[in-house]
Amino acid sequence: MATLPATSVGARAKYEPVIGLEVHVQLLTDTKIFCSCSAKFGADPNTHVCPVCLGLPGALPVLNKKAVEFATLAAMALNCRINETSIFARKNYFYPDLPKGYQISQYDKPLAEHGFIDIKINGGSKKIGITRLHMEEDAGKSLHDGFPDAATRTGIDLNRAGTPLAEIVSEPDLSSADEAYEYLTRLREIILYTGVSDCNMEEGSLRCDANVSVRPRGQKELGTKTEIKNVNSFRFIREALEYEIDRQIEVIESGGKITQETRLYNANEGKTFGMRSKEQAHDYRYFPEPDLLPLVVDAKWQAEIRSKLPELPEIRRARMVADYGITEYDAGVLTASKSLADQFESAAKAAKNSKRVANLVQGELMGRLKAKNLEIEQSPISMHGVAASADLVESGTISGKMLKDFYDLCFERGKDFPAIYEEEGRPQQSTDTSGIEKIIDELIAANPKQVEQYRAGKTTVIGFFVGQVMKASKGQANPKMVNDLLVGKLKG
Ligand SMILES: [Zn+2]
Repeated sequence: MATLPATSVGARAKYEPVIGLEVHVQLLTDTKIFCSCSAKFGADPNTHVCPVCLGLPGALPVLNKKAVEFATLAAMALNCRINETSIFARKNYFYPDLPKGYQISQYDKPLAEHGFIDIKINGGSKKIGITRLHMEEDAGKSLHDGFPDAATRTGIDLNRAGTPLAEIVSEPDLSSADEAYEYLTRLREIILYTGVSDCNMEEGSLRCDANVSVRPRGQKELGTKTEIKNVNSFRFIREALEYEIDRQIEVIESGGKITQETRLYNANEGKTFGMRSKEQAHDYRYFPEPDLLPLVVDAKWQAEIRSKLPELPEIRRARMVADYGITEYDAGVLTASKSLADQFESAAKAAKNSKRVANLVQGELMGRLKAKNLEIEQSPISMHGVAASADLVESGTISGKMLKDFYDLCFERGKDFPAIYEEEGRPQQSTDTSGIEKIIDELIAANPKQVEQYRAGKTTVIGFFVGQVMKASKGQANPKMVNDLLVGKLKG
């Protein structure tokens, strides 16, 4: 839990935070950006390496076409303008996990610029500018634990060196930790829809740095910013920003000055800490990469890539509200991932009543998943199973109560609805009128007061009778039939 400095609400209200985010996403290519080594995560250290990604003298980079297509697709999904010609540049710095002594990135001529994401905040919508999206290679990894002499040595794993990244830089348009959180959530969702990255934060395929400053409200000039680096979850980024905003206000309010520096977030303490200053003085001495030609993504290639752009989540939600008559909230849940939305739509289209499918997913499936701490992808009941069950309720073959029981069984036994329904012998709700009529007659005899109320015009009392009949039939009766029979008999 973050322990925030005791900045008073009054002091906080006087200042406006200004936040910009730099997000790195790893592109899901099979091979690295400048060589044919596998880019797969999780192999034994230094098994996915070659002279190019080891930075051996004389080895030349060859650009991965798929990486260009993925980065371009991501840029298009983020409403960026694609620069037909972009230039790779060397970013020079010394670090043990960077064998070449420079990283190949893009500098003054990036692949794409001038994009935006719309975020929802406080019931409204806000446009957050995207300054640029550029391509670069990742560095290797320093390993500080997990091997025999880790106490005295640091290991270097260069499997990650040369894996392709897209760096997405936002404008400083975000003005709260919540907005930053929302931006990251939307950004991740969009990238996931394009399929160019798995955005898995635990495996480092999505990383985020935040630039943050505060200024008195109404002031044009920006305050001095700090950069928070290497935070590994959206929740921690929000906490780190909340802490850092309050810290800066506190410093300014007590007459101090903010030092421009890089800070790290300690999630255990809920605080940010400045890095030692000698770690931060950077002069990258960028210059164009002489071993690579300018990258040209011409109009024809751009059109080819654009044709692969999927329907994006925001647009899809709006369409699903219109197509299936579902609420915006439902649409939001059902479009949480592209695969879920795809599964839902194919099931809903195949079912008799798509709204019922949506309601069952929302009302019966999601709650059970949550109770078992399962993701939708791990659901024992497939969207096809939901559609099959919805059709059985729709046709009156099973009751809503029976459906709930079947769903419980599905979760107990880890099987899909059609399999469970088969196992249970394809039961149907009772349409045996004589049995139900007998129950109704008994109820009417036993509850003269309610019968009198009904006959005096208080027709809502029928709900009491329906409930009693359903209970007596153990949920097997068809509610519509029960209702019809009751109306007939209560009229007397
Ligand atoms: Zn390689």
